[in-house]
Amino acid sequence: MKHPRKALVMGFKAKARKHRSDSGEDSESTKKSSSKEGEISCGIKDCAKFADKDMGGRSLSIDNAIDTWGSGGYEARKGRVRVCKSCYRKWKKDNKSDDMY
Ligand SMILES: [Zn+2]
Repeated sequence: MKHPRKALVMGFKAKARKHRSDSGEDSESTKKSSSKEGEISCGIKDCAKFADKDMGGRSLSIDNAIDTWGSGGYEARKGRVRVCKSCYRKWKKDNKSDDMY
């Protein structure tokens, strides 16, 4: 017999949130922003991450972007497409070539 884990998982988020506000720590909002903010947003349209260099962002050529996201799936800037770290990873997966780590 399997344990009914679904209920446990579903309740987890609400519980965690409640715990936060219950702890009475209001300094959180000023001390640290929950997510690191960059200046360059990822050029992939359905991605809301940042493509700053210090956050692992890369720039791809338009041809490369089309290969993975299709025309219209990205936003180009000056002939390049800035992508965040995870989008770059995705692209790299799609384009396994001789460029290996
Ligand atoms: Zn991205």
